[in-house]
Amino acid sequence: MAKQQKYIFVTGGVLSGVGKGVTAASMGAVLQAKGAKVSVQKCDPYLNVDAGLLNPREHGECFVTHDGAETDLDLGHYERFLDIEVTKKSATLAGRLLFELIADERAGKFGGQTVQLVPHLTNSIQNEIIQSAKDSGSDVHIVEIGGTVGDYEGLSFVEAIRELSQKVGRANCLFVHVVYVPFIGTSKEFKTKPAQNALGDLRGFGIMPDAVVVRTDSPAPIGVAKKISLFGGIPEDNVILMPNADTIYRVPLTIADSKISNLLSDFSGLHNQPDLSKWKDLIERQNYQSDRQIRVGLVAKYTDNEDTYISVVEALKAAAWSEKVGLKVVWINAETATDEDFKGVDTLLVPGGFGNRGVEGKIAAARYALDNNLPYLGICLGLQVAVIAAARKAGLANANSTEFVSDTKSDVVYIMNGQAGKESTGGTLRLGDYKATLVKGSKIAKTYGKLNIVERHRHRYEVNQKFIRQINDGGLVISGLSPDGKLVEFVEAPQNDYFVATQAHPEFRSRPNRSHPLFSGLIKAGLKK
Ligand code: GLN
Repeated sequence: MAKQQKYIFVTGGVLSGVGKGVTAASMGAVLQAKGAKVSVQKCDPYLNVDAGLLNPREHGECFVTHDGAETDLDLGHYERFLDIEVTKKSATLAGRLLFELIADERAGKFGGQTVQLVPHLTNSIQNEIIQSAKDSGSDVHIVEIGGTVGDYEGLSFVEAIRELSQKVGRANCLFVHVVYVPFIGTSKEFKTKPAQNALGDLRGFGIMPDAVVVRTDSPAPIGVAKKISLFGGIPEDNVILMPNADTIYRVPLTIADSKISNLLSDFSGLHNQPDLSKWKDLIERQNYQSDRQIRVGLVAKYTDNEDTYISVVEALKAAAWSEKVGLKVVWINAETATDEDFKGVDTLLVPGGFGNRGVEGKIAAARYALDNNLPYLGICLGLQVAVIAAARKAGLANANSTEFVSDTKSDVVYIMNGQAGKESTGGTLRLGDYKATLVKGSKIAKTYGKLNIVERHRHRYEVNQKFIRQINDGGLVISGLSPDGKLVEFVEAPQNDYFVATQAHPEFRSRPNRSHPLFSGLIKAGLKK
């Protein structure tokens, strides 16, 4: 008989955005450190079908999986914490499930039944979770339910996980509720009432959690845990105080040190000590005091929400930790950027982006880096603006992307005609992993240390190779193509120390303890300045 998989359901109470994802990922990291195979899934009750069209200013980055799903940024945390590659199956949005249910209803697949949230939507949620767990072949499947328990739109998910626990056996499930306890400055006390109410809500839906993680902004006295234990009916050992940490990567160590670790051992049947050396190393590297700090100018459209570029920032941090230097991300507003901004930094990074706003500032950044031998890393749109800058430098004054000027004759970036299959044409994004072949001897090939690479993508436009002469004249060469030679994947400036750009999103493959070569390359180049 196949082994019974175990499920950990992570729900939230009081507020969302208090670190449910990091808590869930950190529990997974501790289980991994004990030798378990862990998989994850994020269920978002939104009526969106995927995260592709969600506003990054509001929701943060759209994380792309290797198999091309556009997902919530929490999946990025999961990949970085667990060093796994999640899949489409790791992202479940209510909109997609409803879309599929309604399509089935229209196709007459329900044979005249009344189609309802319960049992039809709740069943499809359960099937998704069970299938995702099965496909992963993991020992423990962690499911995070987005939002907070009690939200109207999330009720079907809460009901689904309750039913699922009956189906697979309650002993095979661990329910962890993450609550927030505020500190009231005027009376100088932590207030547990909202958390008590949140636990009451969860009980009202038929779920008695096994553990409660109590998030606070500063360390709370043990009395807070005792109170929640008493009024929530949860054994005191299973109420874990979790104040803000200096770094999110400390949370696995905090969890391993807390009593929740016993609960995880009993639940998984793994009673060995977790091997946490990689987390300890990471914290050590993070705390390394360097006398050198690299200022990376991030030329971006959304400078008021770091989450919009979270994987890029995490990749920069990982590179700085691995090179043992300090990092200062200098946010440069693409809409107002001038040479003065570029002068003040050691390196420039132009990340991915969509739409017209701020694009001239990004082109100016690429041009400045090209002309002044300032280390530059261009990511996706960051490659496209570099190519536009080079073509303009070579005299093609109106060079542009058809994304910004749809009828430009100097369409150095465009949508390629007649490109077959999955490749980027007809308004569909080219998403997920694609291979590229690098040019032997190029800076990019040296940086990667190999000629055949795979990176994740999320773009619609391509470099127009018709303009290769102008691009070359402007100082850039192509240093990587898709294996069929049709699509430009990498460009670089041979005369500069480090001016590289990729059509892909290398930030998604960076890990806190395994920096991505392109980001390490940028930081190293910055160090030489
Ligand atoms: N907007 C550009 C395109 O669609 C770049 C996309 C990106 O940077 N992710 O090709």
